[in-house]
Amino acid sequence: MPYIESLLLSFVLMIFILVDILRLPLINKDRGSRFFIELAVSFFIFLILSVLATVLEEGYIRLPLMICKILWTLQFLSFPFIVIMWMHFNAMNVIDDQNLVRKLTAVHVLPYVVLSVIAIADIGYQRFYPFDRSFVHLSSSPGTTYLMILTLFYCVSMILPTLGHRRELHGSYLFLSLLMPSALSIALITFRLTHSYVMFIMVNSFMMVLFYLIGQRDSIRVDPLTGLSSKELFDRKINKIFRSKSNYSIVFIEIENFQFFKTRYGSMISDELLILMSKYLIDVASSSETYRIADDRFCLCLNSQRYHDIEHIISQIKERGDRPWTFGEKELFIQMNIAAVAVPQQVRTQQEFDLAMNELLLEMKTVGKNSTFMYSRENSTTQQKKLNIISALRESIRNPDQVIVHYQPIYEVKTERLVSAEALMRIDDRDLGFLPPSEFITLAEQSGLIVPLTRILLDKVCRTIRTLSSFDHSLEYISVNLSAEDFEAKGVGKELLCRIENCGILPHNIGFEITESVVLQSFETVAKVMMELSVKKITFALDDFGTGYSNFRALMDLPYDFVKIDRSVIQKSTSNATMLTLLTEMLHKMDKCIIAEGVETLEQLNIIRDINIERVQGFFYSKPLDEDTFISLVKDSDER
Ligand code: C2E
Ligand code: CA
Ligand code: CA
Repeated sequence: MPYIESLLLSFVLMIFILVDILRLPLINKDRGSRFFIELAVSFFIFLILSVLATVLEEGYIRLPLMICKILWTLQFLSFPFIVIMWMHFNAMNVIDDQNLVRKLTAVHVLPYVVLSVIAIADIGYQRFYPFDRSFVHLSSSPGTTYLMILTLFYCVSMILPTLGHRRELHGSYLFLSLLMPSALSIALITFRLTHSYVMFIMVNSFMMVLFYLIGQRDSIRVDPLTGLSSKELFDRKINKIFRSKSNYSIVFIEIENFQFFKTRYGSMISDELLILMSKYLIDVASSSETYRIADDRFCLCLNSQRYHDIEHIISQIKERGDRPWTFGEKELFIQMNIAAVAVPQQVRTQQEFDLAMNELLLEMKTVGKNSTFMYSRENSTTQQKKLNIISALRESIRNPDQVIVHYQPIYEVKTERLVSAEALMRIDDRDLGFLPPSEFITLAEQSGLIVPLTRILLDKVCRTIRTLSSFDHSLEYISVNLSAEDFEAKGVGKELLCRIENCGILPHNIGFEITESVVLQSFETVAKVMMELSVKKITFALDDFGTGYSNFRALMDLPYDFVKIDRSVIQKSTSNATMLTLLTEMLHKMDKCIIAEGVETLEQLNIIRDINIERVQGFFYSKPLDEDTFISLVKDSDER
C-alpha cells in the first residue's frame, strides 16, 4: 500500500481506538492494559510526525532548515522508541515480576539513550544520520545501521521472555507475543531493503488493532459495577502465580451480612458500598491487585515486594472497618471478615490453594463478626476432612439415595401410645461411611447445603407417611427439623407446602421443629412462614427448650403447638426437679403440649409422669429406627 494511504488508514484507526479507550476506560484495569494507552499515544505521535514530514516534503508548509533537521532526527529516533514501548508492553504481559520488567526495560533503554545522544549531537553536522528532504526514505548511514541493529536486537530480546513463560500465557497472548516481534522484524528488514517504512506503519497499526480487540474481549471479565477484575481474571492470576512459582500473599475480604445490608438499605446504597469498598481497596493495594470474586467478596493478590507488609495491610483494612462509611447524609457501619494465605509458604500447589481458599471462606462465613484468619498448614487435615464431608453432602444432593432418614418414636406418657416421631437425617457415603448428624449438620448449614438436604428429607418423610396411610395407625404426624438457612430463600412456606401436597398427604401429618436460636436469627421470616403453615394445620415444636436463650418471645408470639424440653433439663431433674416442674407449669399455662426429650431411665420417666408431661421421646422407649423397622413398629402398635 502506498505511503500516504497507509498513513491515513493508520491515522484514522488510531483516532478511533484512542477515542474508544479513553471514552470507555474498559481495558485500563491492569498495569499492562494501562500501558497500552501510553503505547497507543506514542504511536499516534509517531503518526503525527510522519504526517508532518509528508506535508513538509510536499512543500505545503515551509519551516526553517534547522527545524526540519530536528523533526528528521525525532522521526528517526521514534522507530526504536516505538519498538521499546512494544517490548515493555510485551514484558508486562508476559512476566509476572514487575521488578524484573523494570530492570529489563532499563537495560534496553540504555543503548537507545546512547543513540539519542549521538543523533541529537549530530543535528548540526549530519554525519551520523544525514538529513534527507524527502523524509520518508531511509538512506544508508552509520546511524541507519545502528538503528537497524538496535531495533532487531529489541525484537529478538522480546521473543526470549515469551518463550521462557510460554506455559503461563493464555492462548491469544502467546500468539500475539510471538507475532509482534516477528512482524516488527520483517517490517524492519523490508524497511532496510525498500527504504520505505510503509510496512512498519502497517505492522504497528495491525498490532494495535489486535491488542485493542483482545483488551475489549478481556473487559467483559471486568466487574461492571466496581471496575475491578472479576473472578475469572482472579482464577487466571492464581494459575499464573503457581505456574511462575512467585511469592504472593492473597487476602480475602468479605462484607459480613451483605445480604442483610442490601435488604435493609436497598440496592442503591449497597451498590455504593461496593464501589466505596473497591476504591478503598485500590488505595490499599492497586487496581491490578484487587479483584471482586463474589457479590460480597474481594481479594487482593500482593506480590513479592508487598507481601512482607501483609500484617500492616490487614490491620489497615481492619482499622478502616471500624470506621463508618458515608452515603450522602447517612453514616453506616459494616463488618468485614478478613483472611489471608501466603504462597508458597503455606500452600504450595494450586490444589492446596483451592482447599485453603474454601476453608478460609467457610471459616469467615461461620465465625463472622469482624474476624481475621491467617491460614496455617496444621489446619489442613481437619480441613481436608471437612471438605470431604462437604463433597459427600454435595454428592448426596445429586444422589438422594445417600440421604437416610431414621425415625425416633414419640409416645404419649399416660397411654404409652405411639403418637408421633421425629425424622433424623444420616448420610451414607460410599467413601466416608455412615455419617451421624453431629458430623455434618453444622457443615451443611455453613455451606448452605442444608437447604436441598432438608427438601430431600421432607420428600422421603412424606413418602413414608403415604406408605403408612394404607393401614390404620395412631401416628398423628412426623416432625422434620428446620435450620435457619432453610428460611433464607423467598417463599419457603409455599414451597414446603407444595412439596407436602404434591406427595398426596395431608399437611397436618407433618410437623416442623425449630429451635429458639433459629427464630432469633430471623424472627420476622420464621413468624411469617409459621403463620402460613399453621393455617394449614401443620404443627410446630419449639426444639431444645431449656438450653440457650430462653427469652420467651418465640414462645409468646409464635404459634408453637409443642415444646420439646431438652435432654439436659430432663437429666438434671433426677437430682432436682424444681426447674423442670416450673417450666412445665408455665408451659401448661400457655396451653403448650410438652415433649420430654432424651428420656433414658425409668426414674426420669416417673418424674415426667408425676408432673404431667404429655409426651416422651428417648432411648428408654426407642432409639431412632431405620425406615423399615419404624414402619413395622407403627403397624404393630396399631395391632396392640
Ligand atoms: P435434636 O433435634 O435434638 O434430635 C434429637 C437427638 O437426640 C437425636 O440425635 C437423637 O438420636 C438424640 N436422642 C434421642 N433420645 C435420646 C436419648 O435418650 N439419649 C441420648 N443421649 N440422645 C437421644 P441425632 O439423630 O444424632 O441428631 C442430632 C441433632 O442433629 C438433632 O438434634 C438435630 O439438631 C440435628 N438433626 C438431625 N437431623 C436433622 C435434620 O434433618 N435437619 C436438621 N436441620 N437438623 C437435624
Ligand atoms: Ca429436633
Ligand atoms: Ca431436640
